[in-house]
Amino acid sequence: MDIGIDLGTANTLLYVRGQGIVLNEPSVVAVKEGARHALAVGTEAKETIGRTPGSITAIRPLKDGVISDFEAAEEMIRHFVRKAVPGRRPRTRMVICVPSGVTQVERRAIVHAAQRAGARAVHLVEEPMAAAIGAGLPVAEPRGSMIVDIGGGTTEVAVISLGGIVTSQSLRVGGHRLDTAITDYVRREHALLIGERTAEDVKVAIGSAWPVPGEEDFEERTFTVRGREKVGGLPKTVELTVAEVRAALDEPVEAIIAAVRVTLEECPPELSGDVMEHGIVLTGGGALLPALDLRLASATGIPVFVADDPLDSVALGCGKCVEDFDGLERGMSAA
Ligand code: ADP
Ligand code: MG
Repeated sequence: MDIGIDLGTANTLLYVRGQGIVLNEPSVVAVKEGARHALAVGTEAKETIGRTPGSITAIRPLKDGVISDFEAAEEMIRHFVRKAVPGRRPRTRMVICVPSGVTQVERRAIVHAAQRAGARAVHLVEEPMAAAIGAGLPVAEPRGSMIVDIGGGTTEVAVISLGGIVTSQSLRVGGHRLDTAITDYVRREHALLIGERTAEDVKVAIGSAWPVPGEEDFEERTFTVRGREKVGGLPKTVELTVAEVRAALDEPVEAIIAAVRVTLEECPPELSGDVMEHGIVLTGGGALLPALDLRLASATGIPVFVADDPLDSVALGCGKCVEDFDGLERGMSAA
């Protein structure tokens, strides 16, 4: 039984060898104060965010791309593996994708958590590598490929050649930062307090990085949010426009663009020439923000492409490693 796990800051995906992606749930664990086990994990736990009474906390075990809660991470892995593969799991081997910024201590902790969840062998694969493989980039060739994976907690920018990461940046700006940028804007400009789930709904409904060509009516769209007045505390609704949300997202979007620029500057000239020629590929949920590709292309002068199914790229890349697990065991030492 070989399993691949994309342990994302926002979503965890499981890939089973020979089956494909079998599970896709939010990386959230709900725990009750003093209880030994989680109250809920995944989709069920995400529903509780912002709605929990004082004694229940919704934890994101991988906040900001680092493991902020080891016990919760372990419980999450165990729960998802059991759910995806019920019954006996003989000789389980796992390939787990981790953000490139994790420390040695965290890597060991993830391996340990996977072992306690029943894995007899564990390989860790760096997220940008998995994203690039999943997006179909020719990672093994002597040609520079640039991947930008925009997840919930982090953005990983990497140039890959000959099967290795040549240069990379891990930035603690991702989808969640876009959400809080909206929350902050609404509080500042409309004196309204909204929750993190509401902010994410706004982003997905009418968020954009630039005007969207071919969709003239896009600029006219609005989204009504419900929240609590900053002063007075009464419920209130506000109608947000596309232009307002774009302005709110400007700062984190610029931070992502700056990270791409720095990576290009640090890239050996031959490889950046390859990137100029073949373009930059975007993966992760953040790649779905309308016109982010266009804005990045304009800022860098390099063509930008969004991967097919960007939310699945890392899990699919992880899956390719799972399908070739024996090759991994021959080629790499266990972490
Ligand atoms: P991670 O790998 O860190 O778990 P994902 O790649 O699963 O992250 O991406 C999750 C992020 O993508 C979330 O912040 C979510 O809000 C964002 N996202 C999902 N769909 C869209 C969309 N259509 N537009 C903008 N952002 C999106
Ligand atoms: Mg990811």
